[in-house]
Amino acid sequence: MRLLVAEDEERMAAALERGLVHAGFTVDVATDGLRALELASTVGYDAIVLDIMLPSMSGYEVTKQLRARGVWTPILLASAKDGEYDQADGLDLGADDYLTKPFSFVVLLARLRALLRRGARPRAPLIEVGPLTFDPAARVFAASGEVLDLTARESAMLEYLMRHYPRVVTKAELLEHVWPDAATDQNAVEVYAGYLRRKLGRAALQTVRGVGYRLRPP
Ligand code: CA
Repeated sequence: MRLLVAEDEERMAAALERGLVHAGFTVDVATDGLRALELASTVGYDAIVLDIMLPSMSGYEVTKQLRARGVWTPILLASAKDGEYDQADGLDLGADDYLTKPFSFVVLLARLRALLRRGARPRAPLIEVGPLTFDPAARVFAASGEVLDLTARESAMLEYLMRHYPRVVTKAELLEHVWPDAATDQNAVEVYAGYLRRKLGRAALQTVRGVGYRLRPP
């Protein structure tokens, strides 16, 4: 079994490497995020131990980029302290498990073995509406293969519209599901519908007068 350890603290990296080699693994070490991304994209690792705070690219970003590239190697995220790591974020981005430092090597080994038994999880199915695609694991939207640059709110709105296509989605529904935290009104929905039209193309989002919106693939 071949593992990648991405860790920028030298002593920590060396200790992990020593322990894992002793446990029978083949181990590569990356000391920054970009190197970790490059190695993980090209070498078929069985699992990755990925520090979150890394030079050049965070462990979160490495995870996101790998998943967007279709690399489904199990990832164990490691955070320096409780609170630095947002479990929801990490799992949304496609990590499989996480550990808070300092962790015992025995615990790390047990968690790694559990991940290895499970293997690379299958890619979550893409949601497609015409030329639009949404990858829920990587949270990446694309139109005709081009990645769309959307804000969090725009993403939430488009995800809702795609998940309910071809149904017409009401403004009240969008308010409830996309703005659950904010005291806002339906004008906000209209404003964001405008933003989405600008990014998707005018015709892609149809206004159903007095009701709401529906995606309209060409
Ligand atoms: Ca670090």
